[in-house]
Amino acid sequence: MGILIVDDSPDVHFQLKVFLHSSGYQKLTFAKSASEAYTALEIDSPEPNHRKFDLVLMDIMMPDIDGIAAYRRIKKCKSLEDIPIIMVTGKTDNEFLQIAFSEGAVDYITKPIDKVELLARVRSVLRLKHEIDHRKARENELIEVSRQLEAANQMLLQLSFSDALTGVANRRSFEELIAKEWSRVTRHSRPISLIMIDVDCFKIYNDSYGHQCGDECLKQVAKGLRNTLKRPGDFIARYGGEEFVVVLPDTELEGARQIAENMRRSIDSLKITFKESLVRDQVTVSMGIAMIVPDLDSKLGSLINSADKALYQAKKGGRDRVEIYQDAGKEDR
Ligand code: GH3
Ligand code: MG
Ligand code: MG
Repeated sequence: MGILIVDDSPDVHFQLKVFLHSSGYQKLTFAKSASEAYTALEIDSPEPNHRKFDLVLMDIMMPDIDGIAAYRRIKKCKSLEDIPIIMVTGKTDNEFLQIAFSEGAVDYITKPIDKVELLARVRSVLRLKHEIDHRKARENELIEVSRQLEAANQMLLQLSFSDALTGVANRRSFEELIAKEWSRVTRHSRPISLIMIDVDCFKIYNDSYGHQCGDECLKQVAKGLRNTLKRPGDFIARYGGEEFVVVLPDTELEGARQIAENMRRSIDSLKITFKESLVRDQVTVSMGIAMIVPDLDSKLGSLINSADKALYQAKKGGRDRVEIYQDAGKEDR
């Protein structure tokens, strides 16, 4: 254990050296002034090594900077604040001693130094320091463990709400979110639009390029779709297979149509080769839009059905297009 002795008297250095060495404390560093102590403590470096010393024995009466001022300076340094400081004082330094204690000094030893007293104080302060270090290390370990747990929980949460392949929200999150949005827009008589998106001729794509390429294609399509959504409330999920669904709260048909067209163009610009497609020589998508301003009699299920029907129309009409279902949600009341 390293002990730093700060005293302007070489006699005291010598005496302390003899006493401490005789009790097995070998790692001693001597400073003749506060400035030398600062250097030993690396106080001016951006990150002083707080492990270098376990204890400082600080003379109160020193020329230039006295022990109290040095004490304050050391304690002001965040990384050194845990190093205990025992003040070494003459019999007449009572007033200084009081100041030292009010600042938090852990103990003191009077001059002339009594060996038994010195060793008793040093031992108990070092034991205390050891316990505090141990406790802090435990605390840090616990903080680290709980940080890791928190990160793992976040990851699990993320996994349970997102689709493993494409990274967009999964069906379950879609259902939770749309239920919430549905009651909100119903309460406020606001519009809500839904876009159902389906990759065209995807079975042929898989058959032609293999399932792995199919997966890669779905990832790119999901990314292309997601990147076109700009408003924080807009939401995309993988509905299942090669189908995606987009929820657009507070959005009328015209707005939804524009977003759908943007998404179609975005997929176009990916230019994913698909020579065997019945549509064009690259991957395309079909979309069905439904919009409703729901009241208490409206049913969410019928909005989804309507978007599905519009999608079916888009497929029937030749794919690679956007179709709109009018009066969504009304007919299934
Ligand atoms: P349409 O243009 O009418 O939508 O035809 P389609 O071939 O896209 O539709 P169909 O429903 O017949 O086929 C969908 C295909 O999507 C079949 C299925 O194997 C494939 N598929 C679904 N999920 C995945 C997936 O996660 N990865 C891959 N590679 N293929 C998938
Ligand atoms: Mg399809
Ligand atoms: Mg499909």
